[in-house]
Amino acid sequence: MAEAKAYAAYNATDPLAPFNLDRREVGEHDVQIAIRYCGVCHSDLHQVRNEWGGTMYPLVPGHEIVGTVTKVGSKVTKFKEGDLAGVGCFVDSCRTCPSCQEGLEQYCEKGMVGTYNGTERDGTTKTYGGYSSQIVVDENYTLKVPENLDLSRVAPLLCAGITTYSPIMQWKIGQGHKVGIVGLGGLGHMAVKIAAAKGADVTVLSTSPDKEKDARDLGAHNFAVSKDKETVKSLYNTFDFIINTVSAPHDYNLFLSMLKRDGTMILLGAPPEPSPVAGFSLIGKRRRLAGSLIGGIAETQEMLDFCSEHNIMSDVEVINMDEINTAYDRMMRSDVKYRFVIDMETL
Ligand code: NAP
Ligand code: ZN
Ligand code: ZN
Repeated sequence: MAEAKAYAAYNATDPLAPFNLDRREVGEHDVQIAIRYCGVCHSDLHQVRNEWGGTMYPLVPGHEIVGTVTKVGSKVTKFKEGDLAGVGCFVDSCRTCPSCQEGLEQYCEKGMVGTYNGTERDGTTKTYGGYSSQIVVDENYTLKVPENLDLSRVAPLLCAGITTYSPIMQWKIGQGHKVGIVGLGGLGHMAVKIAAAKGADVTVLSTSPDKEKDARDLGAHNFAVSKDKETVKSLYNTFDFIINTVSAPHDYNLFLSMLKRDGTMILLGAPPEPSPVAGFSLIGKRRRLAGSLIGGIAETQEMLDFCSEHNIMSDVEVINMDEINTAYDRMMRSDVKYRFVIDMETL
């Protein structure tokens, strides 16, 4: 066992505070990573506050992890000491079910092992995430991190990047498509960058009028304030796809009305409460409502390589570990430009 420093939530209401934990010994197939940066995802906040239920305290959040390999197991072939490495939202899965066999480990029929708030396959060992000094992960669930990108700006690709890349690939979104991105936060700003890089015509649909300039700088071609009734009306039947990244309950019907005939809205945001969908929002124009969960290991590697090639990185605000509680408050106010990333040296 090796002791690691960390920050944890001890319950749903108190601020996060220092915590010490033990990481396992490096096994044959494991890599030990000294964590250098960890992104702050809205899913961290949902789980810290137990908004989805089932949070196991103390909880060490963080699943946008990048760092340097400090030790490898005797059978490890993909990594050596000193390499850059990344870890995303899960650290294991059953490896035998059809989803795992297809490289869709995030949909593992036995349930993926979450990077935090989960249990290892032994059924008892709790997992702790990236708001910590080091982590030990099986090499098959560890990503190669490109050397040509700014490391602090790569961290958010491990969740926000892959979560938006995967549906863009699945629905083949690109040239000739009009795409609406709902919510310009961590996921939203990566969706803008990736969809634009794939050649789509991108419109940001935001509740924050002051984000227009940023949206255009990020690569959006158009910007609309979704709270404005006249603007919404002018966008009826406009989009082939809508990627919805909103973290709080809101009216899905409003955005469904902006889809063309046969258009699809893909839900990525995971608000704690359900929202009603009117049958007529879908029926009249044969529209579809879909969802998508992060991405598999192979696809995450493909995304990192794509970002390396196209020089795509997250726009980040690097914070110290003890600024995490303020960062959460700002995230609740949609005041994120466009991902907080913790510098682990400050732990
Ligand atoms: P974030 O950085 O906080 O961004 C969310 C954005 O949604 C905000 O910046 C805001 O954008 C908009 N928004 C917030 N409250 C709103 C409201 N009441 N009505 C309308 N718009 C609102 O969050 P994130 O890290 O991108 O995560 C977004 C959601 O995706 C979370 O629910 C998270 O748990 C989920 N998620 C899902 C997956 C997956 O695999 N499907 C993976 C990661 C995260 P504007 O200011 O532009 O309106
Ligand atoms: Zn996430
Ligand atoms: Zn499986």
